[in-house]
Amino acid sequence: LSLINELKKSHPNTDTSEIPFNKPFITGDETGYINEVINSDCLSGNGKFTKLCQQFFENKYGFNKCLLTSSCTDALEMAAILLNIQSGDEVIVPSYTFVSTANAFVLRGAKIVFVDSGEHDPNMDADKIEKLITTKTKAIVVVHYAGVACEMGKIMEVAKKYGLFVVEDAAQAIDNFYIDADAKHIPLGSIGHLAAFSFHETKNIICGEGGMLVVNDKQFIKRAEIVWEKGTNRSAFYRGEVDKYGWQDIGSSFLMSEITAAFLFGQIQQMDLIQSKRIELWNEYYDLLSPLAAENWFKIPGIPSWSTNNAHIFYLVLNNVEARNKLIAGLKARNIHSVFHYLALHRSDYYLANNPAIQLPNSDRYTDCLLRLPLYGDLKKEQVKFIAESVIDLLSKE
Ligand SMILES: *Cc1c(COP(=O)(O)O)cnc(C)c1O
Repeated sequence: LSLINELKKSHPNTDTSEIPFNKPFITGDETGYINEVINSDCLSGNGKFTKLCQQFFENKYGFNKCLLTSSCTDALEMAAILLNIQSGDEVIVPSYTFVSTANAFVLRGAKIVFVDSGEHDPNMDADKIEKLITTKTKAIVVVHYAGVACEMGKIMEVAKKYGLFVVEDAAQAIDNFYIDADAKHIPLGSIGHLAAFSFHETKNIICGEGGMLVVNDKQFIKRAEIVWEKGTNRSAFYRGEVDKYGWQDIGSSFLMSEITAAFLFGQIQQMDLIQSKRIELWNEYYDLLSPLAAENWFKIPGIPSWSTNNAHIFYLVLNNVEARNKLIAGLKARNIHSVFHYLALHRSDYYLANNPAIQLPNSDRYTDCLLRLPLYGDLKKEQVKFIAESVIDLLSKE
């Protein structure tokens, strides 16, 4: 408690305005690029800014092929089409995730097989995958929760052993890395056969609604472009590879508009700034709150040895659901908006209407006990101190 008093002394809170959970960070470069699009003849998709963004990611992370989509959900749906997921195929998915991770494959008729989160963080427990594999298993979809890398070495090994595809739901994982056994930093999104990123306004790098499919396995590149362009070979036509274009395959309108791509281009110009701001705030939270985690007030899942940190989410895991909900209410009374996260999908109405109940204790624990604190580019260090101080103050009254 001396820590609280010390904090209060050094940082008296004079600003009592609302602290939202999230606030989109605008770099200021977006409007210039959007104006350029408006003044050009190309507003639809697959134009100059789409190509610039795709090239940026391909060059920076060594991705084989990037395709901007109107959401990460779309990119996941493309992945399910590309893997030829059929009725009866089984896909292994973590339960503690956003609905799109599962829905994209359910739309193709897949049966979802949920794997539990790990003991130490919400990512799937890599040691629990193998016993879920059957002759019908087609793919493993990993989710890098909070941007933190799943144990990709183990996961790719299991996938290889059984001939399974791996899709990375890298919605939260932009600019983060898996550290392999040789200490090599491998970009997330470059490891699975396919990967999907999100640029939704709640993510680190944003454009309102937007996403990106990454095709790492070259066998899928040609078909990915066709599926992306409504099932036509329009991309090949515009490159002059064919003299007319037409219906080649199933597909949909998965492209991102050029107006949105221009916004995204404005963001990626300042990606290092955005990332360093978030990491600085994340570290501030960590420094202030980790002493209390050591006292068992809550857990702060550290970053595992095989992952770097892109500071997508700063979260606490409280000791029970009552403590978590009470803390959210207590913070709200101080104008601080903290939020819980996923309702584990194995407990969802949709899943339970079609499947028997299953027990996934770690996913349940994160559903009940996880709390996310405000984290965005314009958040001030003093506000982080005020939030941390409030957390400590509220919990010390328990
Ligand atoms: C945000 C998110 C999505 C969905 O992204 P959209 O771009 O909104 O479709 C999917 N999966 C995970 C893990 C996410 O965090």
